Amino acid sequence: MLVVGALGRMGEFVRLALEDHAELHLGSALERSGHSEIGRALERGVRVTDDIELALEGAEIAIDFSVPGATLANLRAAADAGVAYVTGTTGFDEAGRAEIAQLAKRIPVIHAANFSLSVNVLVWLAREAAIRLGPEFDVELVELHHAAKRDAPSGTALRLAEAVAEGRSLALRDHLILERAGDIGPRPADAIAVQTLRGGDSPGEHTVMFVGQGERLELAHRSHTRDHFARGAVKAAAWLVDRNAGLYPIEQVLGLD
Ligand code: NAD
Repeated sequence: MLVVGALGRMGEFVRLALEDHAELHLGSALERSGHSEIGRALERGVRVTDDIELALEGAEIAIDFSVPGATLANLRAAADAGVAYVTGTTGFDEAGRAEIAQLAKRIPVIHAANFSLSVNVLVWLAREAAIRLGPEFDVELVELHHAAKRDAPSGTALRLAEAVAEGRSLALRDHLILERAGDIGPRPADAIAVQTLRGGDSPGEHTVMFVGQGERLELAHRSHTRDHFARGAVKAAAWLVDRNAGLYPIEQVLGLD
């Protein structure tokens, strides 16, 4: 198994999760060119490389937590080599997401904004609450992540907003509000708003608020560590081995569909 972004925050936890795994083991570790630790020896004598072709040799599957540009480049190489791909990288634009779907016609792929079981249950709860509470309740989402996170809002917050839009039968892009400042006037009906907070070392907190007249329902999830994301990604990789080409939803892996 290839780990892309092997020395990153998530890469470290993916490697740790692989150490306990019965079937999947670290076989190669990729990092960006110019990383100061290229050549460093990791578990099982694997050395960190910046050569994707070399890293794909002998790999059956890859797990990638890196940055969108790197994920797309490495996913293209994996599609050429016939290597299945699991990625949790967030922050793609529409063209990036479309390219992932295109490449998934050639190899099995899972791309999930969040590999946590309980976050994916939260996505389901948000959709169900949106259906049952209806347009009388205004939906406001808040997310908090560590100070080094690059993309905003988080992929998970966008996934939650999408679930609410699905529940309301709305197209998210027509109703999403990401910024408020100045003379903003009354809240548009059907708005789905996301506020981003950054600071400290939080691996991620998400709250979905359904704000009604005289009452408010809040659904919240808080991560204390990153290891549950990593274990979820390794579980997804084990599930993906020997599947046909296609883009598989994380809900299917977790038995939530
Ligand atoms: P990080 O910056 O700690 O790690 C990213 C790693 O990727 C770094 O080590 C970096 O050097 C490496 N990298 C950059 N370019 C590369 C390239 N071309 N080839 C190989 N490696 C390259 O970031 P992180 O906190 O580990 O997060 C990584 C991504 O995962 C982010 O998009 C984050 O939002 C996402 N994430 C997803 C989940 C989930 O459950 N889906 C959970 C946590 C984080």
